[in-house]
Amino acid sequence: MAEFFRSRAGKQCLSVMALGATLWISGALLDVDSWLVSFMSGLENYGADEFVLALGIAGGMSFIYSALRIGDLRKETQLRGAAQARADWTATHDHLTKLPNRYAFERKILPKPARQDGDVPEGAKSNVTIFSVDLDGFKKVNDLIGHKGGDVLLVEVAKRICALGNADCVYRFGGDEFIVIALGMTEAREEWFAKVLIQAVTRPILIDGFAVEVGASVGYDRWNEGAEPLEDAAHRADLAMYEAKSRGPNHHLIFQPSMQDKVTERASLESKLRGAIQNKAIKTYYQPLIDLRSGRLCGFEALARWTDEDGIRIPPPVFIGIAEETGMITELFENLLTQACSDALAWPDDVRLSFNVSPVQMEDKLLPSRIFKVLAASGLPAGRLEVEITENALIQDPAIAAYILDELHKAGVQIALDDFGTGYSSLAQLARYRFDKIKIDKSFIATCREDEKQEKIVRAMLALGRSLNIKTTAEGVEEHAQLAYLLPLGCDIGQGYLFGKAMPAAEAGIFIENQISSLAFTA
Ligand code: C2E
Ligand code: CA
Ligand code: CA
Repeated sequence: MAEFFRSRAGKQCLSVMALGATLWISGALLDVDSWLVSFMSGLENYGADEFVLALGIAGGMSFIYSALRIGDLRKETQLRGAAQARADWTATHDHLTKLPNRYAFERKILPKPARQDGDVPEGAKSNVTIFSVDLDGFKKVNDLIGHKGGDVLLVEVAKRICALGNADCVYRFGGDEFIVIALGMTEAREEWFAKVLIQAVTRPILIDGFAVEVGASVGYDRWNEGAEPLEDAAHRADLAMYEAKSRGPNHHLIFQPSMQDKVTERASLESKLRGAIQNKAIKTYYQPLIDLRSGRLCGFEALARWTDEDGIRIPPPVFIGIAEETGMITELFENLLTQACSDALAWPDDVRLSFNVSPVQMEDKLLPSRIFKVLAASGLPAGRLEVEITENALIQDPAIAAYILDELHKAGVQIALDDFGTGYSSLAQLARYRFDKIKIDKSFIATCREDEKQEKIVRAMLALGRSLNIKTTAEGVEEHAQLAYLLPLGCDIGQGYLFGKAMPAAEAGIFIENQISSLAFTA
């Protein structure tokens, strides 16, 4: 019936009915009796009593229609309400773990204080403490067991956190980060709870028959209720969590104001670095590489140097690290390589340019083409460039790393394994990839003469290089005694303060001149 009334014919019929209803209602409003009698008698004269009957029926049908329509509307409102509730839930919850998300937290859908432990001291009763929990090593687990396995792990972690009696509300803030709100805790209980959170997360989780383990870093702080939004407390808990994470897996820390200072400092440095890269204020310096057999210069390692606007020298590991984390490394790399290639053109042909490539760049498939573009623009032959990569750069994505090294090799670029012996699985890397050179880390060279074990390791590394037909460079040679020790062991190249520190391009030119004139003098 409702369907009929929705059709075109039904609508026309409705119009007639509505007219009838209007008349009917008008009739009801007037002095019905007298009016009806005179009206009927009038109508009888015209033979129209059937018309009145029709009007009555129409009025009745209109009433039924209205009742149906009201029913329809109620149903529609219910459906709309349900859809709205579903949309609300979707917007405020994480689909995987079914936990409320960051948006829910920002909308302050706060739990009602569910319990207030009777044995909690008076002062602690109204405390709201925010805990930030971030998994350690989740990415590795994800890589190992796949994303489906990673999802199972996240769901289990969420369940475990929720199962902790003291967690009044648990949110998933994205990725592997969870926020827990706890009420009415004393300081001692907060610390205890941070430990419990770590224990709960780090217990092995059985996925597809494998016992999988992740770590957890926890930071926490109290909410200054009434004085700040809840997000501020979550932000401080986050800062404490990052600081805890920087100390290694499974640490927990309460927020300290110094953590905020560190972040502010870092943000300011990041913005200065952005400006320095744009203005090309970071320069390449060159440290000589000496062929230990001939005593002649065989190359320069380009090392980045940055003195900020206040005249402060920022150490390369600091600004390179920030550039890596913020994605600025590609632009910095291209700027520096362009500078270095143009400087290297002024050097003799047998003096090679060594250039450092960051581990994050080894995940960039476009790296070879970026390098070739700079080489082509500068006119430096590929054979005069050597790229230095660390062992850690090879484990992030071995397939891309293999592709990059292959492309560079094919073009004639040489590859050196930097800081050899300090990273992961050095020997496995040697077997897997082709290297032209290994650079023994300066920590071995510094101690090899005093420490018997280190001495044996250096000997073994040099022997390894010889047997694999890979040249060896000793880094950090500072003293004549170290040089005298390395020479008979067959080390090929030396680098260190004994031969020269990293210097600007102009000084590198003078260094070359001096070499040439001293050769002429000895000849
Ligand atoms: P690295 O590649 O191992 O560079 C050698 C570091 O050892 C340089 O430090 C150099 O100044 C220092 N060094 C050289 N000889 C001696 C010595 O006899 N004694 C001691 N104690 N140190 C010596 P620097 O320039 O501070 O660079 C540190 C690290 O920063 C580099 O280690 C490299 O990993 C990174 N780095 C520097 N420039 C660049 C760059 O342009 N790109 C990338 N990706 N990384 C860079
Ligand atoms: Ca290097
Ligand atoms: Ca090195």
